[in-house]
Amino acid sequence: MNPIVYAIPVFMLTIVIEALIAWRRRRPLYHVPDAVASLHLGVFSQVAGAFLRVLNLGIYLLVYERFHAFELSAKSPWIYLFALVLYDLAYYFHHRFGHEVNVLWAGHVVHHSSEYFNLSTALRQPSSTTFVSWMFYLPLALIGVPPVVFIVAGLIDLLYQYWVHTELIGRLGVFDRIFVTPSNHRVHHGQNDYCLDCNYGGIFIIWDRIFGTFVEEREGEPVVYGVRKPLRSYNPLWSNLHVYADLWQKMREQKGLRQKIAVWFAPPTGHLAPGEKPPHFEPATFARFDSGADGAVQRYALLQYTVLAGLTTHFIAVASSLPVASRALYALCLLCSMTTVGLLLEGRSLARRIEQGRIVLLGLLFALSPTWFGFVAPLPLKIFGLLLGIGCALWLARMPLFAPPRGALA
Ligand SMILES: [Zn+2]
Ligand SMILES: [Zn+2]
Repeated sequence: MNPIVYAIPVFMLTIVIEALIAWRRRRPLYHVPDAVASLHLGVFSQVAGAFLRVLNLGIYLLVYERFHAFELSAKSPWIYLFALVLYDLAYYFHHRFGHEVNVLWAGHVVHHSSEYFNLSTALRQPSSTTFVSWMFYLPLALIGVPPVVFIVAGLIDLLYQYWVHTELIGRLGVFDRIFVTPSNHRVHHGQNDYCLDCNYGGIFIIWDRIFGTFVEEREGEPVVYGVRKPLRSYNPLWSNLHVYADLWQKMREQKGLRQKIAVWFAPPTGHLAPGEKPPHFEPATFARFDSGADGAVQRYALLQYTVLAGLTTHFIAVASSLPVASRALYALCLLCSMTTVGLLLEGRSLARRIEQGRIVLLGLLFALSPTWFGFVAPLPLKIFGLLLGIGCALWLARMPLFAPPRGALA
């Protein structure tokens, strides 16, 4: 079973604790639509991973079995430590290329599109990077890191990065100069001039110090989070596609084949002459995206996420045992749910009607199907599911008409 299933309750609990601490200290660290969008993107990447992970592991296994140079034992704890350090080095380059090459940035941008920095941001993960990420880790297979050790190292590296997404933890002294920490990762998520293209490490920030990309957090210059070309959307599908769409458009504008291909491999900042810097960013003029979603819509989105979190945990737990068609149907059901809630948060026309249809249909399917993708729900739970669907549809009908954002959306 995917071990992320066990991590989900810990993620949810710590996010609630962080949000409560922020609320008590009157610090605006959370914005519900943004946090829900981040959580949706986390679900999105897990759902996509249920189909794509086999690509990553399959290629690793293939290369390991045919070409590994050394016989390393999966029983030695030293091999795990060695693999973790090596994995983190590979992650450094994977992450760095993710910022320096357009086609890789198009996937990784998802993680940076939040204009807030909190534990929910850590879960804002891309869905499309698996198509290319495998190649960065093949040196481990060639050296002979056993697949099980590779999987464990990857999981530790991923989970470690969760806690560094917070503004509640300040500087940690010497720790900030050896490990990736909230302080140096805040800089990585910044769009201030001094924050661009730095601090790529996963667990060890030492790689940045070795390769000249380490930047310390500056006192008195608050980090402005997000990307220079803001996403301005809560739609998880568009969040994963918007930079690909931009690049596609840029490619169409080019004349020759070479120029068209070059678009995908150019740096996101464009080709700069030696000594030339990207355009200046003025923090004082920055305003975070807010669609103006009504409080009731935000509470509704939170409730829907709670239901979705339960369904997603079930999906991840059973995905590998489901036939591909059932898995695809379940995935589609989750993806449609997140997209319609995202559209509702944006105040899109017809979003309310679509969401009402979705929630009633979901309630009916859950109540009337003999099994819910292998889970035989007891009758009281089926009745509860149906009533919840109808109740949500009625609640939506009574919600104040969602005012369109002031100039935020077309
Ligand atoms: Zn990054
Ligand atoms: Zn991050």
